[in-house]
Amino acid sequence: MTIQENVPLAPLTTLQVGGPARYFAEAKSEDDVREAVDFAKSRKLPLFVLGGGSNLVIADSGWPGLVLRIAIGGITSNADDAAGNGVLFSVGAGVDWDDFVAMAVAQNCAGVECLSGIPGSVGATPVQNVGAYGQEVRDTIESVRALDSRNPYLKQDRVLVLPKLACGFEYRRSIFNGAERGRYIILQVDYRLHPGGAPSLKYADLRNYFEHDRAHSGEHSSEPRETPSLAQTREAVREIRRGKGMLIVPGNDDCRSAGSFFKNPALGEAQFKEMVERATARGLQIPSYPALEALRKVSAAWLVEHSGFAKGYTAGAAGISRKHALALINRGDAKANDIIALKNEIQHGVEKAWGIRLEPEPVFVGF
Ligand SMILES: Cc1cc2nc3c(=O)[nH]c(=O)nc-3n(C[C@H](O)[C@H](O)[C@H](O)COP(=O)(O)OP(=O)(O)OC[C@H]3O[C@@H](n4cnc5c(N)ncnc54)[C@H](O)[C@@H]3O)c2cc1C
Repeated sequence: MTIQENVPLAPLTTLQVGGPARYFAEAKSEDDVREAVDFAKSRKLPLFVLGGGSNLVIADSGWPGLVLRIAIGGITSNADDAAGNGVLFSVGAGVDWDDFVAMAVAQNCAGVECLSGIPGSVGATPVQNVGAYGQEVRDTIESVRALDSRNPYLKQDRVLVLPKLACGFEYRRSIFNGAERGRYIILQVDYRLHPGGAPSLKYADLRNYFEHDRAHSGEHSSEPRETPSLAQTREAVREIRRGKGMLIVPGNDDCRSAGSFFKNPALGEAQFKEMVERATARGLQIPSYPALEALRKVSAAWLVEHSGFAKGYTAGAAGISRKHALALINRGDAKANDIIALKNEIQHGVEKAWGIRLEPEPVFVGF
């Protein structure tokens, strides 16, 4: 494995901001990962694990230690067992997430179809328990194989398999970005999918898409509706995402982002009451999203848009996507500091208008 020096990181991220890595290596195998961890330890360098760079804001000063990009490939699957427990896919952490979803859908295996079009690597999906359109990876993850970079013992002892329950999955959270942040390097993820299973159509956006499609194809609503296939669901999700600038389309400024920049805040009862009062005083009605309400969450996008930040808002070289109020974008030559300034401005604006502090979703590296 080659260790390079002073490697620019901005091109390795979707937001395309930030400085260089002092040292940089790409791990194609578990042995490469071990070697990189030993290199960083022996030089007392901080280690940062990079996947597809789609959930990151890298500081303009870059990263002072070693950036290890995980490029471990490979997908294997076990046949459905006699008890009908589904097919277990073991996927290398460096595999492109959407390539895996495409493959699963092509094999008619249900469980990840709504997660189509999310950028990044398989190894990062457990980190923030990636989710969209009613599915989360915790629904299908069976276990995560990882190297414990803090284990000082023998090399062989450092790799372990964490069963799903040990991963502490919650909304956009797990032990990997929570209590054990920076400890585990994910090498492989096992997902259990269901051959011939029906697609998940929990989200109104998705159901509306098919209703609309039906109306356009001349079908009448009294005719029995066929359940869309997994492949149709995947295409629908990608199409909806494209319309929101949430699908990476090369050359499109609106997707030079890190995805949603803020999490949907979960409110306590008193805070929600206060929000309703503030909305009523302004003659506004808080939109109802059953999927969010079940978790006592409110839409961060709605809060941003009702705090003076419309889609297309610009702040120098940074801005908000014209298609999605939650996507902060690099309009061309933004620095990380421009993105941070806009993040701060939005957080202050929302707090002033609604008394709610938005929590960012991306990972801040080198700040
Ligand atoms: C246009 C767009 C749309 C998006 N839509 C969604 C969405 O719908 N839902 C959603 O949940 N997210 C979404 N995201 C965010 C992002 O795609 C996901 O969080 C994705 O899983 C990040 O993967 P990555 O490989 O790019 O990780 P990176 O951005 O490289 O890293 C993210 C974090 O994971 C850690 N990490 C990465 N790989 C490993 C590994 N092998 N072992 C240990 N730690 C690791 C990193 O250290 C870092 O802390 C979107 C982003 C963009 C740009």
